[in-house]
Amino acid sequence: MASEEVSQAFRDDLRSYLEAQCPAPLRKGADPSAATEADRQAWLDAYAARGYTTPTWPKEYGGGGLSKAETRVLAEEVAQVAAYAPVVSFFGTSMLGPVLLEFGNEDQKKEHLPKITSGEINWCQGYSEPGSGSDLASLQTRAVLEGDHWVINGSKIWTTGANHADWMFCLTRTDFEAPKHDGISFILFDLRQPGVTISPIQLISGASEFCQVFFEDVRAEKRNLVGPLNGGWTIAKRLLQHERQMLSGPVDGAPRRARAKQAAPTDPRSALAESARAHLGDADGQLGDAALRDRIAQWELDSMCFGLTLRRSGEEARSGQGAGAATSMFKLYASEMNKRRAEILMSVRGSDGLGWEGEAFSPSDIMETRGWLRSKGNSIEGGTSEVQLNVIAKRVLGLPD
Ligand SMILES: Cc1cc2nc3c(=O)[nH]c(=O)nc-3n(C[C@H](O)[C@H](O)[C@H](O)COP(=O)(O)OP(=O)(O)OC[C@H]3O[C@@H](n4cnc5c(N)ncnc54)[C@H](O)[C@@H]3O)c2cc1C
Repeated sequence: MASEEVSQAFRDDLRSYLEAQCPAPLRKGADPSAATEADRQAWLDAYAARGYTTPTWPKEYGGGGLSKAETRVLAEEVAQVAAYAPVVSFFGTSMLGPVLLEFGNEDQKKEHLPKITSGEINWCQGYSEPGSGSDLASLQTRAVLEGDHWVINGSKIWTTGANHADWMFCLTRTDFEAPKHDGISFILFDLRQPGVTISPIQLISGASEFCQVFFEDVRAEKRNLVGPLNGGWTIAKRLLQHERQMLSGPVDGAPRRARAKQAAPTDPRSALAESARAHLGDADGQLGDAALRDRIAQWELDSMCFGLTLRRSGEEARSGQGAGAATSMFKLYASEMNKRRAEILMSVRGSDGLGWEGEAFSPSDIMETRGWLRSKGNSIEGGTSEVQLNVIAKRVLGLPD
């Protein structure tokens, strides 16, 4: 048992802190609709004050300094006390933070990591460009050093959340003669400055979660270069592995980048079966459609197997084999599982699954339709499925180019 490695004193202290800090409307079993924005902020602040939004990061950088076993106890205890565990943006916690811990210098860690943990600074990812997606290393956004500043010109596209972000971690070309992979640098800068133009792009799902971002003589302080000059490609790839690991998390049907914002995680398997029973079940809740029963059961079995594989891989990572190219396998499979789940839900919902707007459809009908359309992006974001297959062929299976 995980908790055996953790002292009772740790658990007691944790429980009393969480009980003292969690506002009443956000307690387990309370009506969360009564919670105010101030309640949610107070809960986040108290949680982040002990570094629990990034529980395993070192304390000196604002993290919780917890072991994996203590982190599991934190999850258990917070589930006993509160309706949800506060979260901050995954761009900081799951993408930039891990690479700053690995490649950042001491000043960069001290400056940026605590603001990620507290949620003070929201980050976005400046990787893709209008002409550079799968062939990311062909990117053309330029950064030229002028005195103490990088001066940046160019454009990024499909930048999720740029319109809500404060800072960007950005891949820029800093050597224009070198082979394409050897002329890229990883630079951080404040998005809220003159010269930055952010244009939201509407998705097929109707939302505008990503943007095109234009840079005209945008400035980044020289000290905000992470890692060596022209050594950004190594950092870029490492960050993609962290991103793919995040995107491969439990398949629950929610847009996976948004999953962290979910208040209370539900069991995805029973949620799928429940939806089928509610729509198509007989008086006893039994599903008469054998083909649909089979699809749901197969999805549930695959989901269970995938969960166990992820757990095994997590154990291997703990014993020193860090996540590497294998994250491409998990990202690929999680994308397919999520899309398959959305398709099954559409089959279950029948014509309700076509709800787009208007009073004829319930909010959940509309949400499911949009979720189904959003799931199409799963096999594109974080690198397309074809690109994952290429990585698996080359880096996992060792097949020739
Ligand atoms: C929901 C969502 C969120 C995103 N968020 C961000 C973000 O925050 N920041 C960011 O920088 N980017 C983001 N992206 C962009 C994403 O990383 C790119 O869309 C993706 O890398 C593909 O690039 P592309 O769109 O230019 O397609 P292309 O690279 O032009 O690919 C077009 C098609 O060709 C195929 N293809 C290309 N090269 C090969 C090859 N060598 N072998 C086989 N097939 C190939 C692709 O698989 C694809 O089917 C996001 C995308 C989505 C959908």
